[in-house]
Amino acid sequence: MNYLRRRLSDSTFISNLPNGYMTDLQRPDPAQPPPPASSTPAKSPTAAPTPPATSPAPERKPQPAQSTGAGFFSSITNVVKQTAASAGLVEQTQVTTPKKFKILLVIDEPQQEWAKLFRGKKVHGDYDIKVEQAEFNDINVVAHANGTCIVNMQALRNGTKVVRSFKPDFVLIRQHAFSMTQNEDFRNMIIGLQYGGVPSINSLESIYNLCDKPWAFAQLINTCRKLGVDKFPLIEQTFYPNYKEMVSMPSFPVVVKIGHAHSGIGKVKVDNHTKFQDIASVVALTQTYSTTEPLIDSKYDIRIQKIGTDYKAYMRTSISGNWKTNTGSAMLEQVAMTDRYKVWADTCSEIFGGLEICAVKAIHGKDGRDYITEVVGSSMPLVGEHQNEDRQLIADLVLAKMNQIASNEANAPQRPTTVQPSQGAGQKGDITADGIKNGVGRPPQGCLQYILDCNGVAVGPKSVQAN
Ligand code: ATP
Repeated sequence: MNYLRRRLSDSTFISNLPNGYMTDLQRPDPAQPPPPASSTPAKSPTAAPTPPATSPAPERKPQPAQSTGAGFFSSITNVVKQTAASAGLVEQTQVTTPKKFKILLVIDEPQQEWAKLFRGKKVHGDYDIKVEQAEFNDINVVAHANGTCIVNMQALRNGTKVVRSFKPDFVLIRQHAFSMTQNEDFRNMIIGLQYGGVPSINSLESIYNLCDKPWAFAQLINTCRKLGVDKFPLIEQTFYPNYKEMVSMPSFPVVVKIGHAHSGIGKVKVDNHTKFQDIASVVALTQTYSTTEPLIDSKYDIRIQKIGTDYKAYMRTSISGNWKTNTGSAMLEQVAMTDRYKVWADTCSEIFGGLEICAVKAIHGKDGRDYITEVVGSSMPLVGEHQNEDRQLIADLVLAKMNQIASNEANAPQRPTTVQPSQGAGQKGDITADGIKNGVGRPPQGCLQYILDCNGVAVGPKSVQAN
């Protein structure tokens, strides 16, 4: 082999080759041998079906004679080709084969099977969608400034916990990225995905911004100022960055909402000054902010949801008598969408650069007035009878966005296909014919190297026994 290397570095050797050897360079490679057994597709339980191993390899187009290096002495080895190329004797073309699928990462509970909603669906006409689904708890993210983002995902395979690694093309986030309850701060994952430039629904920027309820409420204050309180009846609210200013309240009863949490957690009804001081002393321990708002004598809660261009309105009435209708038993009914509700949903869907999926929450008081309390984004739980339809609407929205991104990429100016062998072939996220992720997609020295199988999925080196 070293002999061949030396010989091919010698330009006189090449120029002295008998007729026919150089023309071999123009011949396309014969079919590649099947990948070794260790690189068989690592199937996710939620993954969309991938083409069978017998399916034809992606079409290899004959290369123009002057730029072809592939196929040279295919009976010898690829090393020969690389050596010839590095000697500058042949121009090396990119030997990457474009993957024929897009990876959609869905952050959601396992009960919600998203893979089936994308089965048979194509992006940009010919890319399958491979769904990888996990909860925030089960993923980790490594992102590089060159735009590479690798998600490491814990999965159970034959009772063993394995770590799978892949580069998502798109992410749908259906879980709360942050709650101040224990172990529920996943904002670092949002940062990682944003850092790696992964497109998503809703936008990662909006998801990050919705991680502090008072921060989002500040946007609603702007909307209320613009539209007026008649059109956009926002509840009165006071913000305290810490307990220190929680000294007195003008009137009672009030609701104190401590920090950022969901499902009624951290919301306390306070009837008088003494109890308010007690709560302030609890807030002092939490080291977080809190808000107060008047306790509305409520008839029912209102929820206006918007998924793309689909609107639905619901009312929720407490049955158990709890002042929080999301605690204890409650009755949910779909109600007619009105123009007024539509204005609420439309204006809220414009905050933080746009929320494709959102819901506006309000309270309808016994005084006949509405009080808007909050806007929630793509992590909103689905409610009512039409949850399947809503999930399908979300899937359609994701598909449309993935298609839009793919056609933007297709229309973008092409980068030159010739690469310097010394830098490693391939572009970001490309997979070479031999299944090694390469080029700028390679993690820097000292990072884990990812061996991808023919589906572009890598089984990470980490492997731990399930508990
Ligand atoms: P979820 O996770 O379900 O969105 P949450 O933790 O964000 O809930 P809120 O929606 O703010 O909490 O409050 C929970 C419930 O408490 C509301 O659904 C509503 O029924 C009741 N509630 C909230 N604020 C008030 C208020 N100012 N006056 C009367 N009731 C209120």
